[in-house]
Amino acid sequence: MKSKSGFISVIGRPNVGKSTLINKIVGEKVNIISAKPQTTRNKINAIYTEERGQIIFIDTPGIHRARNELDKYMLKQAYESLKEIDLIIFMVDGTSPFGGGDRFINEQIKSLDTAVIVVMNKIDKLNSKLLQDRLENYKKNTGREVIPIAAATGKNISNLLDEVFAHLPEGPQYYPSDMFTDQIERFIVAELIREKIFNLTREEIPYGVAVLVEEMKERDKGKLLIRANIYVEKKSHKGMIIGKKGSMLKEIGKRSRRDIEKLLQTEVYLDLWV
Ligand code: GDP
Ligand code: MG
Repeated sequence: MKSKSGFISVIGRPNVGKSTLINKIVGEKVNIISAKPQTTRNKINAIYTEERGQIIFIDTPGIHRARNELDKYMLKQAYESLKEIDLIIFMVDGTSPFGGGDRFINEQIKSLDTAVIVVMNKIDKLNSKLLQDRLENYKKNTGREVIPIAAATGKNISNLLDEVFAHLPEGPQYYPSDMFTDQIERFIVAELIREKIFNLTREEIPYGVAVLVEEMKERDKGKLLIRANIYVEKKSHKGMIIGKKGSMLKEIGKRSRRDIEKLLQTEVYLDLWV
């Protein structure tokens, strides 16, 4: 049997059980990271490997209505990542009927070419009559087949995995079985930079700041090049972070680099943009 592999994103309203499902499939490791706040602004990969192949879960920033520029940016990021993946698992919550939040997401993913599996979670809370009603309700409103599961108990997850592997293309094992991310490294680096901004500015700035590591690659003599962008909500914040003649940004960079080098045990060239 040829090995399959692909990138999957689990999307859906908050609290439908997305993290629970990924944790159930992959194991407990992802927990450490997803327990932190702000992870929704970062891509995190969790990786599941078995005989049939490898699934790489991409945690997209989340599709929800944009209230400000930063949200809009993140929404765009979410779309961009959804375009690049092989399969979307659209998760809904069986304990309530199809609602506005589901409708919004359903509309957004209609225009994508990416394959979609709709999964109705929390069926452990439903009696058989309600289960049938809700399945019908979600089928009708999403226009797709719906797979019932209970992520928390693991019920029907093997069916879901069958369905997932049926959709995935043949492909190589992208990552070693014991590695569950390369994004997590990026995530931690971004968090280290955010922390420096927080410590150095002591303003309201941190709440409107997102850091994205755009590139991490090995350069000559094993030196690691890291390119990171700092996104701010207000124009005035940009000046504060850059500082007089760039002094603040320089200090943020210096302190970040020191911590990153300690973490990754390698020399780092850090390129920061605001
Ligand atoms: P996320 O925001 O979509 O990532 O949702 P979480 O995975 O954090 O789960 C939200 C809540 O739903 C938590 O309290 C979970 O324990 C609960 N939950 C998740 N899956 C199930 C399930 O299959 N059955 C029940 N009854 N609760 C669940
Ligand atoms: Mg979650």
